[in-house]
Amino acid sequence: MKAAKRSNKLGKIFVISGPSGSGKTTLLTSLIQDKKIGKLLVKSCSITTRPKRSQEREGKEYFFVNPLEFRRQLKAKKILEWTRYLGYYYGTPREPLEKQLQGAKNVGLCLDLKGARILKKMYPCNTVTIFVLPPSLDVLKERIQGRCRHTKHQEIKQRMLLARKELQAAGKFDYCILNQNLSVAVEELKTIFLQESST
Ligand code: ADP
Ligand code: 5GP
Repeated sequence: MKAAKRSNKLGKIFVISGPSGSGKTTLLTSLIQDKKIGKLLVKSCSITTRPKRSQEREGKEYFFVNPLEFRRQLKAKKILEWTRYLGYYYGTPREPLEKQLQGAKNVGLCLDLKGARILKKMYPCNTVTIFVLPPSLDVLKERIQGRCRHTKHQEIKQRMLLARKELQAAGKFDYCILNQNLSVAVEELKTIFLQESST
């Protein structure tokens, strides 16, 4: 049997952060859809206790679990980092991420500020942090509303309140991308990825 190819070089972690609705998921998905980049980058799929939005698919955007299962995985140390956002839990599965990195694959994650901070601390030399800025708060609200028509008024209000706080952290990130025109923002992200993954 042929020995599996191994590389001593770890892959890189690309953490995409920014307010809800700023376009993190859209940008990361577009990046991975690029033919060349898609071979070099995989998306980490978090687990969450938040209810599934109508267009979301199990195992694509998230693995949807109940709070009991989330706690079980946390206790079993299956979650590398986690956060609580608007009353729901979100966490990064440990094993897939570690395997991908050891296989020299680059991993992209959409995380809140806490997740970005923790991964940068855990893997300081391998983590690139990118903050996605919306063109304005009004546009951000429109995008949150437009994404899912079932999002309740109260939830939109809470996400907007958090967004105002989160925007203040933009300066702490390695890169900031203004997501006004989607194709311009995707090109910027591609440039960052190609530059950072080659060093
Ligand atoms: P996040 O992952 O940051 O919460 P999403 O990627 O889900 O945000 O984007 C929120 C909504 O905004 C989605 O409906 C998405 O299609 C839309 N969107 C993202 N980027 C743009 C853009 N540049 N112009 C217009 N709509 C956008
Ligand atoms: P949403 O409900 O909009 O999908 O996600 C809410 C917030 O949780 C977003 O900022 C998203 O990036 C973040 N998030 C999603 N998964 C994880 C995770 O596994 N860890 C952390 N720290 N944040 C996450």
